[in-house]
Amino acid sequence: MKVLKFGGTSVGSAERMKSVASLIKKNAEPVIVVLSAMSGTTNSLVELATNLYAKNHAKANELISSLENKYKQEIKNLYTTESILNKAANLLKYHFDYLRAFTQDMFTVNEEKAILAQGELLSTAMFQFYLEEQKESSVLLPALNFMRLDENEEPDLNYIETHLKQELDKNKGFNFYITQGFICRNIFGEIDNLKRGGSDYTASLIGAAIQAKEIQIWTDIDGMHNNDPRVVDKTHPIEQLSFDEAAELAYFGAKILHPTCILPAQKRNVPVKLLNTMQPDAKGTLITKDFAGSGIKAVAAKDGITSISIKSGRMLLAYGFLRSVFEVFERHKTPIDMITTSEVAVSLTIDTDKHLKEIIEELGEFGQVSVDRDQTIICIVGNVSFDKSGYAQKVFNALSEIPVRMISYGGSENNVSVLIKSEYKKQALQALNKGLFNY
Ligand code: ADP
Ligand code: ASP
Ligand code: MG
Repeated sequence: MKVLKFGGTSVGSAERMKSVASLIKKNAEPVIVVLSAMSGTTNSLVELATNLYAKNHAKANELISSLENKYKQEIKNLYTTESILNKAANLLKYHFDYLRAFTQDMFTVNEEKAILAQGELLSTAMFQFYLEEQKESSVLLPALNFMRLDENEEPDLNYIETHLKQELDKNKGFNFYITQGFICRNIFGEIDNLKRGGSDYTASLIGAAIQAKEIQIWTDIDGMHNNDPRVVDKTHPIEQLSFDEAAELAYFGAKILHPTCILPAQKRNVPVKLLNTMQPDAKGTLITKDFAGSGIKAVAAKDGITSISIKSGRMLLAYGFLRSVFEVFERHKTPIDMITTSEVAVSLTIDTDKHLKEIIEELGEFGQVSVDRDQTIICIVGNVSFDKSGYAQKVFNALSEIPVRMISYGGSENNVSVLIKSEYKKQALQALNKGLFNY
């Protein structure tokens, strides 16, 4: 079985949903189809939640009505049969009444998560009604019945595997199994989610759970490009990437993939294809365990980084110093992205300031601590074999005009990372596009 995921733009209107329906019909075998919310919906729901936290109920009601009107128009464009239109109208009423109920009650993070789930619940039900109208054999698999987080708020692949199989066993013989991306339950059984952009993660988790033949991520661009198309003018798609290369790019900011979505596919060795709904015949990007080609393939940038330096004479010739430093981050459940050391100092980066205050306080015991915010990691990915010369030189030649705060090379043979101030990001990505890819 294959897993096909369609993102927000791909299901962003009635017309787009109809194109997705014709695309999935090209599969000779049954498929699992994972859908995001229609584009813009999750952002609107986030805005709604912000207003509900602020008890701004008039504005919240306004937002709900405007979203509801948009959906009312979409269902008119999507269906032709009266009975299905009525069913869809009831569906909208159910979900929008549900949203309105929150304008009266207490509002906490749990309610926010329940609100954010409505986008995917709506898009999948609407799409399945359309398939029904088209007399296609299809069924909804509720993600809330099988997609689950463990006590560390990480997806629980064993639970997902067992419960997804149960859902599939209950619903044998269909051609199209439709399910929601992004949404899940946490260890307490409450509605939760896999963080923004999480539908890719859903597809990869499902692909891993059923050992799918392939996971296809259908989006609005023809695969992973060599640079961020939102920042630089000229980019090109990359035909093939290894899991390691794709995982680095996703984690370090290539928005086409959710930061950790490659890991489940890699764990079970399921190939991932990135494809374009608007250009279904374009090659896209194939991601497998194999390394193809050599040299630098792509760059990505991750913002919102904070760097922390600890300078201490105690580090000199001492063992156990770094362990004590790392334990501080472990205690505060804060992952470290980059690290560089000298004999008397260590610098490292984190992408969340949630526990920064406590971390700085505790690190103060080891030496002099300094913090720089608003930093960006630029990650340069490819097959940068340690046996060949010139890769580092190419990168640093390209970045000769940019002040570089940290450099990381040698952790693996497939990336070089540098830390710069975020204000230089655009200039750095443009310079790398010129220096590495001749644009
Ligand atoms: P979807 O809604 O389908 O999940 P996303 O907006 O999350 O789509 O991801 C696709 C977008 O990712 C593209 O439109 C593009 O602007 C952006 N993007 C950022 N970096 C890259 C990259 N290296 N290659 C391709 N797309 C990228
Ligand atoms: N709808 C969610 C979001 O906008 C998940 C996704 O699209 O992948 O973040
Ligand atoms: Mg996305």
